[in-house]
Amino acid sequence: MTERELIEKLDREHGLSEAEYAELIDGRDEGAAELLASLASEKRKAVFGNSIYTRGLIEISSICKNNCLYCGIRRDNRQAERYRLSKEEILSCADEGYGLGFRTFVLQGGEDAFFTDEVLCDIVSELKKKHPDCAVTLSMGERSHESYKALHDAGADRYLLRHETADPEHYAMLHPAEMSFDNRMRCLKDLKEIGYQVGCGFMVGSPGQTSATLAKDLTFIKEFKPDMCGIGPFIPHRNTPFKDETAGTLELTLFLLSVLRLTLPEVLLPATTALGTIHPQGREKGILAGANVVMPNLSPVGVRKKYELYDNKICTGEESAQCRGCLEARMKAVGCTLAVDRGDSPASLKARSL
Ligand code: SAM
Repeated sequence: MTERELIEKLDREHGLSEAEYAELIDGRDEGAAELLASLASEKRKAVFGNSIYTRGLIEISSICKNNCLYCGIRRDNRQAERYRLSKEEILSCADEGYGLGFRTFVLQGGEDAFFTDEVLCDIVSELKKKHPDCAVTLSMGERSHESYKALHDAGADRYLLRHETADPEHYAMLHPAEMSFDNRMRCLKDLKEIGYQVGCGFMVGSPGQTSATLAKDLTFIKEFKPDMCGIGPFIPHRNTPFKDETAGTLELTLFLLSVLRLTLPEVLLPATTALGTIHPQGREKGILAGANVVMPNLSPVGVRKKYELYDNKICTGEESAQCRGCLEARMKAVGCTLAVDRGDSPASLKARSL
């Protein structure tokens, strides 16, 4: 098939075979990217209008027991400054965010043993009690089924856990031997089964990634049908084993955002901070390629630089209100407005009304 035929098939059938996804990626050029982006943008507007969902990100801990080779807060990075927010600090970030119009709070952090089920359930239920009209999303890594269930019972609505790669060998290149592809997949399956709205995703341009591994990612995502899919460029961090690797490109990230929008028209697709880091207008371009979510930072300014997953991360010096204002202007520039609501995925709303 020609590149155009592949794109038309993807648009019509919301999916390609694994081999066709790889062919589409390998054969891409500027014309293909433009056609894909315009179809994806139309699809975004048809499903979500010009409204962009926002999630307030609270980075609750930079302490992590894991040693992922790409990540700036990996255990072996002795130069990393570690911090952990208290319950009061987390609640106060959320209060501030509420005043700014956020109705979803994402609590993200390293795998920090301090956040036992008891501690985290208490924070989640307090957050829900104070802001019952808000959704709480957790992004705290791999936990047991029992733990995910307890957190869901405490009121957590959503969970973000990027699968990182759908290829087991590639997974082993990105992670130390003590981490396993099978456990990552088990976690995602558990989360879905428990009833969370689930987000998976991967870094674009991670070391060892090929069109074949990306085709596996797209096939996995098509089958798994997440509510959200977070993709952003891999960016090297100076104190990691991947410090000399090349960053993922804007071009491939935008291309894949469009492919994902056409594959799962209703999926929530964030224009990530990493995308904004590799290009000054990265997030705006992400929206124009089919993304429909932004996740500004609500963490206290004093800790922002310490949650350094990769070099030169943006928005580490601004206050939450500044971040919100800045994003509002950026979205307006591409004809969109920031929504003041929970921003549930259409699929999860349908499931709830059954
Ligand atoms: N510990 C939780 C987990 O593993 O899901 C949440 C925090 S983790 C730091 C969040 C995401 O950051 C990872 O899923 C990974 O894809 C992304 N990330 C880490 N290092 C990165 C890098 N160097 N460049 C881009 N993204 C990175």
